[in-house]
Amino acid sequence: MLPSKKTIGIIGGGQLGKMLIEAGKPWNIRYHILDIADSPASGLADKHIIGSLMDEAKILELASDCDVLTYEIEHIHLGALQQLEAEGKLIIPSPKILEIIQDKGLQKLFFQHHQIPTTDFELAENPTQWSEKLLKLKGDKVAAKLRKGGYDGKGVELVDKKTMLEQYNAIPFSEPVVLEEFVENAIELSVIVARNSQGDLQTFPTAEMEFDPKANLVEFLFAPAQVSLEIEEKAKRIAMDCIIKLQGIGLFAVEMFLDAKGNIFVNEIAPRPHNSGHHTIEACYTSQYEQLNRILMDMPLGNTELLKPAAMINLLGAEGVNGLYEITGLDTILALKGVYIHLYNKTHTKPKRKMGHITILGDSIDEIREKAAIVKNHLGMKQL
Ligand code: ADP
Repeated sequence: MLPSKKTIGIIGGGQLGKMLIEAGKPWNIRYHILDIADSPASGLADKHIIGSLMDEAKILELASDCDVLTYEIEHIHLGALQQLEAEGKLIIPSPKILEIIQDKGLQKLFFQHHQIPTTDFELAENPTQWSEKLLKLKGDKVAAKLRKGGYDGKGVELVDKKTMLEQYNAIPFSEPVVLEEFVENAIELSVIVARNSQGDLQTFPTAEMEFDPKANLVEFLFAPAQVSLEIEEKAKRIAMDCIIKLQGIGLFAVEMFLDAKGNIFVNEIAPRPHNSGHHTIEACYTSQYEQLNRILMDMPLGNTELLKPAAMINLLGAEGVNGLYEITGLDTILALKGVYIHLYNKTHTKPKRKMGHITILGDSIDEIREKAAIVKNHLGMKQL
């Protein structure tokens, strides 16, 4: 069937959905979305069902006139997807994978079971179990993560083991958590993997993320990652291995930690386009969004090579600015060669909210670092 005859249903209409639709417009693909009103993808979708992503009935309604369903966020009603898949609906990636990924505990157990390298961990049901579990882990620091519902660093606390053992009241979560060993001075890498229904597999060049330690969000991203060829190959091999073992069809971001000894630990998998792949829109022959469209449309995978080295900066809501806003500094930024701005159609800001991103292309990592610094210095946000 020609792509133009097909309709993709997207659960979620955020920025990832918006960019997925933008990538599919040249192919005349139709998109139906489910999300609250005024979401980033609202104006672009051919049909917008307004509702919660946790509303089973709305997901069934969305599915009723779509050829294939996908999702751009993990926190959605799983039961509705399981029911639809059992009835024969095509859902990419399968809810069987989403079930594992929605629960960081199940995800860690999956890595362990399949010998995928990951940090040692313990599962604690409630704060009374913390001391016994913490004592089994090595190191002074521990990453404590809510098993369910966390995103963008929310639901993750990096805690001091001694403090947690001595002060019961300092324990940050009462819900079930994963407690995992902390990787000191980790370099954070991401490999986006695409796999279609024929089993063809393709990776994007490894990206390296620099985090804003306060916001726990990606501050700068660089692609290619500044690692040896050996590490690049190893990261890609591990990422592909994850998706093969998951029997995944779709687009997945595999987030990893690289330590000083060259060990790689898989942190988590996102079953959807990812922040660490925004730059692929301008920097690669095929973007992560086009690649997912190809998979959803059952078309061959596209070439993922980088055209040029790239950086990506998240445009986050500024401290002290709430509600209506204006972005400042764009005159200087847009005068630079190879700088691309994406805005997410969000009418209201709040501190650290993802409002857009900027991609920077250059001939060398030094050149893009220089331009990224100029962008960072001029980019501002003003209250209206
Ligand atoms: P989220 O799913 O909310 O993005 P992550 O599990 O990716 O949460 O954790 C957020 C950030 O916390 C990571 O990107 C990393 O900077 C830090 N972090 C999490 N786990 C560890 C760990 N085991 N060792 C070192 N840093 C970690």
